Amino acid sequence: MIKRTIFSFILIASVQLSKAQTFIQAYQDRANQVSQTNINTYLQEFEALGVKRTGTTQNTDAFNWLKTKYTSLGYTTADFFEHSWTASGYSSKNLIVTKAGTLYPNKFVIVCGHFDSINGPGTNDNGSGTSIILEIARILKDVPTDYSIKFIHFSGEEQGLLGSSRYVSQIVNGTNPKMDIKVVVNLDQVGGLATKANTKLYHDRDQSTPTSNNAAAAIAVQELANCTLLYSPLAVDFDPAESTDYVPFQQNGEIITGYWEYEGGYNNPYVHTANDKLVNMDPVYVLNVGKSAVGSIQHFAAASTTTLALEDSSISTNLESVEFYPNPAKNVLNLKIPDNIKDFTVEITDMNGSRILVSKENTNHIDISNLKPGVYLGTISIGNDKVTKKIIVE
Ligand SMILES: [Zn+2]
Repeated sequence: MIKRTIFSFILIASVQLSKAQTFIQAYQDRANQVSQTNINTYLQEFEALGVKRTGTTQNTDAFNWLKTKYTSLGYTTADFFEHSWTASGYSSKNLIVTKAGTLYPNKFVIVCGHFDSINGPGTNDNGSGTSIILEIARILKDVPTDYSIKFIHFSGEEQGLLGSSRYVSQIVNGTNPKMDIKVVVNLDQVGGLATKANTKLYHDRDQSTPTSNNAAAAIAVQELANCTLLYSPLAVDFDPAESTDYVPFQQNGEIITGYWEYEGGYNNPYVHTANDKLVNMDPVYVLNVGKSAVGSIQHFAAASTTTLALEDSSISTNLESVEFYPNPAKNVLNLKIPDNIKDFTVEITDMNGSRILVSKENTNHIDISNLKPGVYLGTISIGNDKVTKKIIVE
């Protein structure tokens, strides 16, 4: 995504939690299942697929990579729909994976993002959104939801929303009556910047014509922001919805909203260049955006509010409170960890996932004098639980 128009606007609604939407522990437990290891692996594999320009072999490779991922998550070909399209001299495919709702199987929550890239591997734009959609699909696979969910990976976004516009005209409007869509939630460029703290998210508000759907979209974006505040550590701000795959849905009268990085955002120097790579973004931010998205998709699809015994809700709030300090650090990195946690290890990896350092067990002070200045990830393991934090070494 790239914003074509830059304008400031007045924040009308105050950015705070509306009372109507209450915290649901089961939603938080599932949000906490977003895995840093999975996010990092997806981002690395996505990057390795190269420049996924619409119509190229690399673009097809990325499409097939997505199908392989869904298959390994337990989805079957019966859940897949490969939407082939041709437009403006380009031919490509969108991948749609559907999970059936229990109460309203014919009403759909769409969570979408594009997988094509331009000029570079697009690890932020939009490997970030792609990775999060895969994590939502994994975590919610066996969670009952009242509404059906469509996980959609569009191609042709960078050539002018070609895949999403053909999806709306050919598939959404291809039946009579047209497809019944509850809400469209798009994830595009949510990777942040490696050198920033990345503590805030933009949520996209529909301010465009047709205006018939704007009031409903204003409620949806507020609910999305509430989910970010409830289920992730991030703060929120609002930006006008534009220039990404929800636009054709918006123009079709659907209720739309979305996610966009705050740091970077309007001024990200890497997107649409050869340097749109993992090394320049913040995978911990992607994890945090993922927590919000697992929360919001559960909210919109009305997921079960009770945690099944077989679901793994392992990461405790205890573990989330672990911190490295100072950050940025030099020579010695300290670990703030609750007193009741006795057995832990710390592993430091670089942004390519290579292990740089493993601390001695139960060490609160880690010698980092051999580390070159840069951005690293520190993973604290306690039994089978892990939490990952970003570390900046000066
Ligand atoms: Zn994009």
